[in-house]
Amino acid sequence: MQAHDALFIDGTWRPAAADGTLQVTNPANGTVLATVPAGGPEDVDAAVAAARAALPGWSGTPPAERAALLGALHDVLTARREEIAEIVTRELGSPLAFSQAVHAAVPVAVSGSYARIAAEHTFEERIGNSRVLHEPVGVVGAITPWNYPLHQIVAKAAPALAAGCTMVLKPAEDTPLVAQLFAEAVAEAGFPAGVFNLVTGLGPVAGQALAEHEDVDLVSFTGSTAVGRRIGAAAGGAVKNVALELGGKSANVILPGADLARAVKVGVANVMANSGQTCSAWTRMLVDAARYEEAVELAAAAAAKYAPGDPEAEGTRLGPVVNARQRERVAGYIEQGVKEGARLVAGGPEVPEGFERGAYVAPTVFADVTPEMTIAQEEIFGPVLSVLRYEDTEDALRIANGTVYGLAGAVWSEDEEEAVAFARRMETGQVDINGGRFNPQAPFGGYKQSGVGRELGPHGLGEYLQTKSLQL
Ligand code: NAP
Ligand code: MG
Repeated sequence: MQAHDALFIDGTWRPAAADGTLQVTNPANGTVLATVPAGGPEDVDAAVAAARAALPGWSGTPPAERAALLGALHDVLTARREEIAEIVTRELGSPLAFSQAVHAAVPVAVSGSYARIAAEHTFEERIGNSRVLHEPVGVVGAITPWNYPLHQIVAKAAPALAAGCTMVLKPAEDTPLVAQLFAEAVAEAGFPAGVFNLVTGLGPVAGQALAEHEDVDLVSFTGSTAVGRRIGAAAGGAVKNVALELGGKSANVILPGADLARAVKVGVANVMANSGQTCSAWTRMLVDAARYEEAVELAAAAAAKYAPGDPEAEGTRLGPVVNARQRERVAGYIEQGVKEGARLVAGGPEVPEGFERGAYVAPTVFADVTPEMTIAQEEIFGPVLSVLRYEDTEDALRIANGTVYGLAGAVWSEDEEEAVAFARRMETGQVDINGGRFNPQAPFGGYKQSGVGRELGPHGLGEYLQTKSLQL
């Protein structure tokens, strides 16, 4: 794919009104891959106007026709999945096999699920003497991060379009190329002009203009809690809908009696995947005192298998993080962990030998982490695992619930019912029981400061609908 030196507005690629460009770099070696326009407030205005103009036509299109176009979009993404994986590997740095299995395959699955949901959903119900209509919220402003760049776009665009909303997307500055591919796919699928618009640009410029735009009805944001808090406050002031998918510090609770070797192996894999840049990663592993040292040894040995490598080379399991700034941020957290007295059992803050040209972090495991330490409280967003000790089940629950976050988690037990009972008491939006696999149709979203709202499946569609009651 050739990068577009343009924004996708009202069905065509057109030059930005604003000057300035974003450089897209490959974090594995620092080479510049492309430049794309840095759109400004005027460009956001044009994109929102196009979305507004397209809204009556699209919201009035029968759901079955909307579903058919989502099916066509699913087909285009399916046909281009290899290209998607290659682009994400280059601009994000994730190993190619992971890009194929996750960065390409999950958006394909999610777009397919919304083609089905749009076809089957009843956009009308009867309650007593009322006909309740489920109508699109209107114009959506979507702001997405770089860590699962296409997944996070599709998790907003597919339900928004299925619901009958029109939208403007501001993708992350680090990963605009896969967003451009998505705009191409929307055009190829045959969506009417103006239904989907793309403005690449900087967060505090294009992102903020979109979030604060008075003609946007719903802002859907995924990213850091710091930015999400500001977007939520602005939306509250303007009395508009907002959905926030924010950070996490999820607990992987290994109960006494669980299969320790398996729980640790899967837990380490969960943290190292995507170089630890996963909002739902289980970055805190909780182990009972009796088996604590055994778990630490297993975790250090498992982490050592994630040798850093070139993401385009076959067999690489750990690529770089997204950019040099993120590398410094993660290294700073590792130094902080050492300073606060945690015991480094794998990795460390130094650049792995031979990888000085890229944004690499060694797979890192900390033992003797206590709940109040910075590395046990704050989202690091790098390949860093903290192993914490608990005394009994109540202690494990207190530690698991003891952060401001609540996005995901895991529980392992020899007795599934015991694990489910524990999970019921966790303050978090998703829990995987004994390694239960990711379900792209299950509601995803945060308790506490991990966010507001749910994405994926029928619950995700609901975020883009508002109700009107007709009394007969
Ligand atoms: P971020 O700044 O929150 O970025 C997310 C999106 O918001 C990007 O498109 C960004 O644009 C945009 N943005 C930034 N400032 C904005 C503003 N004032 N108004 C409107 N939009 C704005 O996150 P980040 O800088 O990429 O990453 C920082 C940390 O956030 C990470 O280390 C991680 O802890 C966390 N994070 C969490 C998730 C998650 O899924 N929960 C995802 C990514 C990051 P730019 O790309 O131009 O900045
Ligand atoms: Mg940023």
